[in-house]
Amino acid sequence: MPIDATLPYDDQNIFARILRGEIPAKRVYEDDFAIAFHDINPQAPTHLLVIPRGRYVSWDDFSARASDAEIAGFVRAVGAVARAAGLVVPGYRLLANTGPDSHQEVPHLHVHLFAGRKLGPMLAGRDG
Ligand code: AMP
Repeated sequence: MPIDATLPYDDQNIFARILRGEIPAKRVYEDDFAIAFHDINPQAPTHLLVIPRGRYVSWDDFSARASDAEIAGFVRAVGAVARAAGLVVPGYRLLANTGPDSHQEVPHLHVHLFAGRKLGPMLAGRDG
């Protein structure tokens, strides 16, 4: 179910549990600010998720409340994940769904990183 990006943070959400190591994930990167792991239902040959370690529901929440250090650390982590995966030259796409119209499902900020093929038009059709 799509979530309301203005809800309070839920410590039981699936990505909070991955961060705590309570459920497994195929991690590819971690530092003080972020972790990255493979999406469980990949939509491209490479489909990674990068999430901040902090308790932020959405891009809206993160951009409003996170410290400058957290924001810089997270943005740098997204770039580092892509470089480490060798994706800069072939190219990649970033996506951060925020709120119901975007179909955000997990209420912990995550940036999708897609790569590994021509990714096609930016958005699906009007019925999306
Ligand atoms: P969104 O619709 O932007 O909220 O995307 C949520 C993403 O999380 C989807 O692409 C799911 O496939 C992915 N996902 C859900 N549960 C897990 C999990 N346990 N491990 C990895 N990815 C997951």
